[in-house]
Amino acid sequence: MKIGRNQPCWCGSGKKLKKCHLNRKEQEEIKPWEAAQNLRRAFGAKYCSVPDNLKAECKGNIVRAHTVSKSMNLKKIQRNGHIYAFIPSFENLTKNNGVLHPELYGINKASTFTGFCAQHDKVIFSPLEDKEFVGSKDQCFLLAYRAQAREYFTKKSSANLMDFMKQADRGKSPLDQQDIQSMVFHHSLGVDAGMRDVTIYKNKLDTILNTKNFNNINAFIINFQKIPSVFCSAGIFPECDFQGNQLQDLFDLETTPDLLTFSTIATKNGGAVVFSWLNDDDSKGNCEKFINSLKTVAPENITSSLIRFFFEFCENVIMEPTWWESLDKPKHESLVNRLANAASLLEERQADCLCTDNLTLDDWELSGIQEIK
Ligand SMILES: [Zn+2]
Ligand SMILES: [Zn+2]
Repeated sequence: MKIGRNQPCWCGSGKKLKKCHLNRKEQEEIKPWEAAQNLRRAFGAKYCSVPDNLKAECKGNIVRAHTVSKSMNLKKIQRNGHIYAFIPSFENLTKNNGVLHPELYGINKASTFTGFCAQHDKVIFSPLEDKEFVGSKDQCFLLAYRAQAREYFTKKSSANLMDFMKQADRGKSPLDQQDIQSMVFHHSLGVDAGMRDVTIYKNKLDTILNTKNFNNINAFIINFQKIPSVFCSAGIFPECDFQGNQLQDLFDLETTPDLLTFSTIATKNGGAVVFSWLNDDDSKGNCEKFINSLKTVAPENITSSLIRFFFEFCENVIMEPTWWESLDKPKHESLVNRLANAASLLEERQADCLCTDNLTLDDWELSGIQEIK
């Protein structure tokens, strides 16, 4: 069927055909520098993530906030000021056909996001940065708050990139245009649902930050004798557990999934992985199921299970150079492949992805667990 020049375009943009896809095939294809520039612009946004009522107190520049606190952590695993990280940029994605490989970065560049002003970065996180970690509710909340702020920042950046992605079919044949628009449409459904969900959790955590009522914060802390070789901090919607059971279905876009945040930290006696989540009226119990499953993992396998989990669900991992370089090829490949899943929005995860694959990745020597309710 032929669409008239002044009718709505077939792609669903809401624009008239003549203002949208009419001459798309004749348009110039997107140049690599243009894609790189748009990616940098979207993820290089700078703003303070505090709730609106605190914005009047913002002071100083927007800083490169560390999602994994620098003072507490990165200095302990660096080598000559460097660590391994995966930083998605157009350049390193195209270099390896879309698969990210870890590279050495200066500790000042890794795992930062420009999501807090200098004043709030210092004041809000002071109980974490200036005090010893004891697993208090406010410290567990602040780890969750920082992880969630980064998720919000990342999702918002992806949403900002959508308009540019809709132009990815410039200069392509009509058939390719339809394929690309259909792919972008499905991607955008995921981005919109993700944006809606992180906004819900941002509002909930902002309320807790304002009221300092930490009653609904639950946490599970795994303490280790050694300093972890992998640092990671993120907020995720757990889809499966360590025994291969499906938890929540993220393709059900109607439901707000349960959010689980986690952070690796260095402690006085070694290190810890801290899981924090909200146990409020909206919670469907998926975080508890996930943690119960983690509790059944044998102590000697817990480090490898956590590392598998980090790479499977989060691209924000930071690695001790000597550890990463000590792994053999099958271990490198396994982790790089897991990370490719973590970075992709289209890849469907297998429910058994966290089950043991018999690769021993490290042992940070479990020293105890703490449950905070
Ligand atoms: Zn169109
Ligand atoms: Zn601020």
